[in-house]
Amino acid sequence: MRMDRRNIFFFYRKEDKTIKYVEKLNQIAKEHQFTIVEDATKANVIVSIGGDGTFLQAVRKTNFRQDCLYVGISTTGALNLYCDFHADEIDKMVEAMLTKNIEVRRYPLLEVKVDDNPSFYCLNECSIRSAIIKTFVLEVYIDDLHFETFRGDGMIISTPTGSTAYNKSVGGAVVDPLLPCMQITELASLNNNQYRTLGSPFILSGTRKLTLIDLEDGNDFPTIGMDNEALSIRNIKQVDILLSEKRIKTVKLKDNSFWEKVQRTFL
Ligand code: NAP
Ligand code: MN
Repeated sequence: MRMDRRNIFFFYRKEDKTIKYVEKLNQIAKEHQFTIVEDATKANVIVSIGGDGTFLQAVRKTNFRQDCLYVGISTTGALNLYCDFHADEIDKMVEAMLTKNIEVRRYPLLEVKVDDNPSFYCLNECSIRSAIIKTFVLEVYIDDLHFETFRGDGMIISTPTGSTAYNKSVGGAVVDPLLPCMQITELASLNNNQYRTLGSPFILSGTRKLTLIDLEDGNDFPTIGMDNEALSIRNIKQVDILLSEKRIKTVKLKDNSFWEKVQRTFL
């Protein structure tokens, strides 16, 4: 890919330590003839400074741009799944940004349609949880097939890159982001002679649609989460979830494949 991207937007939480660091980045970027923009819509490189949570916000707050390269810089000390650089690796960043042909990787996104609202997008997952002590019921459809009636705490529908987050905590598999698909995991389903669900995580191909209906029968307020943000819509009748045609672009460095990150993070 040709790298003529010169307009950089920095996304970060305004904390003293990070502000100082961004000042330093500003200086170095200018020395290399990059332009720092204050308006994210004018950027073609969006740099997130923080952890994975910050990266999720950077992508969400800038509307999942298709014509932008997203770059994650980790300041948490740990290696993060969405961050390809550590804060102290400035030389490496400059080198990557100045290289004419950098490799780009693309991460699948979920598209979530809630009734007649405009589509929402998720980079990690969409989660649906009962917000009260009682269980709630979901009619689960795969395409037009009524697959199961779920009763329990909720469900998580995750992307491949989200598979190492919430999905993994509830026993879901880690999925290679080169597979465009979505994984569905259960949160404490009731399983007895009256209620029956599959009981194991399952993975749908990118051409399928998952539909959840009857979200509020006897339970007024299920919480719908899009990555790290709660959806504030109430009285929801139907949620359709599919793999989006949109993808998020990030830089791909040597020795930093998805599986190397997984190994370094978990093993
Ligand atoms: P948070 O509560 O601070 O995040 C929980 C942890 O998940 C943090 O350590 C975060 O890393 C990490 N994380 C985020 N995305 C990840 C990914 N794709 N792979 C591996 N780890 C990941 O909230 P947050 O930082 O805003 O992150 C939101 C995410 O937290 C949600 O999308 C959901 O996946 C996850 N979550 C997990 C649970 C659970 O496991 N029980 C419950 C709720 C939410 P950083 O420290 O680098 O930010
Ligand atoms: Mn976090």
